[in-house]
This record gives sequence, C-alpha cells and structure tokens, in this order.
Amino acid sequence: MTDTKNTKNAKNIDVLISGASVAGPALAHWLHRHGFNTTVVERAPALRDGGYAVDFRGEAHLSILRRMGIMDAVQRARTGMGSMSYVDSAGKPQAKLPADLFAGDVEILRGDLARILYDATEQHTEYVFGDSITSLTEDADGVTVTFERAAPRRFDLVIGADGLHSTTRRLVFGPEERFVKHLGVHCAIFTTANHLGLDHTGHAYRTAGRLAALYSARHNTEAKAVFYFASELPDLDRRDVPRQQAILAEQFAGTGWECDRLLQDMRSAPDFYFDSVGQVRMDSWSRGRVALLGDAAHCPSSLSGMGTGLALVGAYVLAGELAAAHGDHRVAFARYEEELREYAEGCQKMGDGVARLMVPDSRLMAALLNRYYKIMPYLPGKNMAAKIARRTAENITLRDYGREG
Ligand SMILES: Cc1cc2nc3c(=O)[nH]c(=O)nc-3n(C[C@H](O)[C@H](O)[C@H](O)COP(=O)(O)OP(=O)(O)OC[C@H]3O[C@@H](n4cnc5c(N)ncnc54)[C@H](O)[C@@H]3O)c2cc1C
Repeated sequence: MTDTKNTKNAKNIDVLISGASVAGPALAHWLHRHGFNTTVVERAPALRDGGYAVDFRGEAHLSILRRMGIMDAVQRARTGMGSMSYVDSAGKPQAKLPADLFAGDVEILRGDLARILYDATEQHTEYVFGDSITSLTEDADGVTVTFERAAPRRFDLVIGADGLHSTTRRLVFGPEERFVKHLGVHCAIFTTANHLGLDHTGHAYRTAGRLAALYSARHNTEAKAVFYFASELPDLDRRDVPRQQAILAEQFAGTGWECDRLLQDMRSAPDFYFDSVGQVRMDSWSRGRVALLGDAAHCPSSLSGMGTGLALVGAYVLAGELAAAHGDHRVAFARYEEELREYAEGCQKMGDGVARLMVPDSRLMAALLNRYYKIMPYLPGKNMAAKIARRTAENITLRDYGREG
C-alpha cells in the first residue's frame, strides 16, 4: 500500500538504486511504501542466491522485519543453527560456542534473504540485471546516468547500495583506497557437501593466523566451508578465481583437520567467494543527489556480524527521511546521517575487535584462545560477547515515519 500522504507535492520521486542484495531491495520496499518510484540495477546477471549465513539480533532488526511484513518468510528460511564446536587437528571437539553468539536471534543465508526481499518488491520495482552504472552527471533537476549496457537515463536521485567495492562510491567520492580499511584478514567461502554429517551445527579449526570452518546449511543438505587467514595481501583482481584459489591452497594445505579435503572440494564449488575483510569509513555518505547505503557507506566488515541488520536499518531510515522531507534530498540525506552515524560506528567497533580475535597471529595466542573457549561456559562473564553484540544492535531508536513505517 502506498503512503500518498508523504509524497503529496513531493519532489525527487524517481530513484535509481545500484545493488540488489540486502540494502537495495530493502530501500526499494520502503520507498515504494512512501510513494516513490524505484529502479534497481544489479551487476550480476540474475539474483545471487549463494552465500553465507547472516543474522539479525535485537528488537531494532526484528521490528523492521515485522514492519516490512517479511518476518514469516524469514522465519521459514532460518538456518536453525545450534552451537559451533572448535575442534583439534584430528576433528575432536574441544569447546562449544553457543548459537546466540554467532547466529543472533534469526540466522538466514544471505541469498535466501535477498530472494525474500526481491519477491517482496519485484511487482512494483523495475529490476535491471546484468548492468552497471558507468557515469553520473548531476544538474539542478536530476542526474543523468549512463550504463554499461542500457541507454542513458534520467533520475531524480541515485542511491549506491552496491557493497564494499561500490562503483557508485568510486564514481562520486573517489577511489576505494581512500575509504576501505583492510583489517589484515582475507576470507573465502563456498558451498560444498555436508560430508561430516553436521546437524544444524558447525566445526571450526584454528591455528596461528588461520581459521577454517564447516557448517551445515539448508537443513543439512549442504555445507558452507569458510576460511579466514591473516594477510596484508594487496587487493587482488576480484575476478581472478584461479589465483585466489591458489593463495587459499598455499595458506591451508597440510594444516590439519579437514582442510585438504575442503581445498579439493573448492575446485568444483558453484559459488567460490574470496575477498579481503574491510571496513568502509567515510566522513559523509552523500554528495548532491547521490547517497550511499549499507556496506557501500559504512561496511562494518563481515566479521562484525552486524552488516545485514545495519543495512536494513539504514534502508528504513533513509526512505523514511526522504518521505518526511517530501523528497528534499538535502534535508533527508543530512537527517539520514544524523540518525544512523552513531549506530553504524558502534557496529564497526564490533568488527575491529573480532578480526584480531578470529585469527590471532601467534601460535601462543591461538592456543590461549582455544583454551579460553574451552572454559568459557563455566566463567561468570560467559554471555558477555553476545550481550555486547545485542546492545550494539539495539543502540538506535527507530522513528515512526508514517502509517506503514
Ligand atoms: C563472508 C561473509 C560473512 C558475513 N557474515 C555476516 C553475518 O554473520 N552477519 C551479518 O549481519 N552480516 C554478515 N556479512 C555481511 C553482510 O553480507 C553485508 O553486510 C550485507 O549483505 C550488506 O548488504 P549490502 O546490500 O549493503 O551489500 P552487499 O550484500 O555486498 O550487496 C551489494 C550488491 O551490489 C551488487 N553490485 C556490486 N557492484 C555493482 C555495480 N557496479 N552495479 C550494480 N550492482 C553492483 C552486488 O552484486 C551485490 O548484489 C557477511 C559478509 C561476508 C562477505
């Protein structure tokens, strides 16, 4: 249902969004409810289904899922993960981490979430797959946008929701190196067989500077293999998969547990993903008629466990502020940032700390951490990390932006 109240006499009605993962479709959902027209351009040729588990925690995230009307669909697709065991090189469990520490209140595969958001928006949103913005030229009335494939078009506003390596950010704000801070860790992830027979659970194996894990997915019918390793590698060509796989093999071959088998499986994985773990730090998230959203604006890193909830909260706030300002982007973009900045910075702090803990660079530190996890369930502060994560995720009061928002 469209809230015509907010956009009566409004300007800047036609909005282009770059990126169809979490932030982009969530924004399209809210903008439509407030009476705007949305087009989403996605570089991938089709919706990207694969991927890893992401989570929501705390009332801010959950209330947005409810307000969007997608909570039931999210619950149906939830991973239902239990605890995660840390194992030794022979695969013998050494310690167990409770589910709420890494899976929040609701955990879902990123691809499943993207599908739910797409299904909820595709009837009223123009989706263009297999294309990318190549230039943005702003004037007093709007933005002329050129694309790799489609003919140039005019829009009133453009929102970059195109992730850590945002093209919109590069075109409008400058090169990635200025804004992306590498946290000294690389990550790889792919889908493989659940050959350990894991039942809604995962195993993780840590050595100095490395962590490998396998967790069951899609109700045990498959598994996700995850690798993190400490590295100062310069940014690699993100399309050079053979080189990335060679680096991963160099890092993990012969290191114990299931690593060799998983490296073999990697060669035939349908969805190999490899990237540096980074955060996006920017003084401002908008310039003129262009604003950034989600990871493109303030990626807290994949290790923070906060990026998805933050993207969802940001979409809600950005659309709400545009509606409240009747489309006046100068007012709305400034208010969006005022409402969200402290929250986003809190999420980034989580990412900072976790990188160092996840892959400690010395053997001694790795051994100490493994030992700590073993005794953690018996310590008085055993739930502290989960509590801090929840507090961070709830550190925002969501404004009511109208009848539906
Ligand atoms: C390995 C890993 C594990 C993670 N684990 C968690 C977790 O446990 N909990 C959690 O909350 N979050 C987690 N995250 C983070 C989470 O996935 C992101 O924070 C979240 O998806 C942000 O959504 P987004 O829409 O802003 O960006 P993204 O999900 O990165 O989406 C960006 C979209 O833009 C598209 N795109 C890119 N370039 C262009 C272009 N030029 N033109 C058009 N489209 C383009 C991409 O194809 C993609 O569809 C994890 C991330 C990774 C990588």
